[in-house]
Amino acid sequence: MLKDIFFKLNKKASDEKSESGTEKQETIMTKCPSCKKILYSKDLHKRLNVCSNCDHHMPIISTDRMDALLDIDSGTELFTSVTSVNPLNFPNYEEKLKSDKEKTGLEEALIVSHGKIMGNEAVVAIMDPRFRMGSMGSALGEKLARTFQYATEHRLPVIVFTASGGARMQEGILSLMQMAKVSVAIERHSKAGLLYIAYMTNPTTGGVSASFASVGDINLAETGALIGFAGRRVIEETIKEKLPDDFQTAEFLLKHGQLDDVVNRVNMKRYLGTILKMHKEVV
Ligand SMILES: [Zn+2]
Repeated sequence: MLKDIFFKLNKKASDEKSESGTEKQETIMTKCPSCKKILYSKDLHKRLNVCSNCDHHMPIISTDRMDALLDIDSGTELFTSVTSVNPLNFPNYEEKLKSDKEKTGLEEALIVSHGKIMGNEAVVAIMDPRFRMGSMGSALGEKLARTFQYATEHRLPVIVFTASGGARMQEGILSLMQMAKVSVAIERHSKAGLLYIAYMTNPTTGGVSASFASVGDINLAETGALIGFAGRRVIEETIKEKLPDDFQTAEFLLKHGQLDDVVNRVNMKRYLGTILKMHKEVV
């Protein structure tokens, strides 16, 4: 019976398919994986998937985050036609892309919108780890470089939410080249005196953490996010030392001066809106 409550599908949602073509399953109750408290899914959704009991941050999909962040009807999605190809003819890559597109309803592991946050204009880019683990391929790099070019031309601040497993292995060196390409676009945006806020979410790792995720004018991270370059086990085996339990968490990095702040997702919009407003007033 209890099982039924947990897993009862919202009939309407399961019968229909969302506009993006992905199937939606809704449960009435959700158990917090951290404190195990049973939460109403609707309440949890209103709190952007943050547990009301222990503040544990559960995953949120990129489109939901964008909707929660931008003022109603203020957003215009950009660069929707940029999508991955298979430049190195890597086996099965096209099938994997197709499957991720169907699963997520996205064309790439990054969505970009020009909109307003509490009345302040900005260009917002959000990575989605459900698509090829948010890995950085040529299309993602191109979208991000265009984001900064667009913002430079329109004299707008940029906010990038990162969530990534690092470089996209199926694109080899072309993937790694994106780090340099995006960094140049960020530099031009910066030289034009414009604001870039890097906002790292769970998980931000590999080449992404080592490039555009950590070079913001303001570097933020979400509560509890895993952030690091190499995996914990690899580092421990290399240096032959046991690492602290909170190593590679947002809170650890803040304590060690690597971040400007750690932000609870529930406060995300107000926090960013305030920074954008302050910045607008001083420039
Ligand atoms: Zn909890």
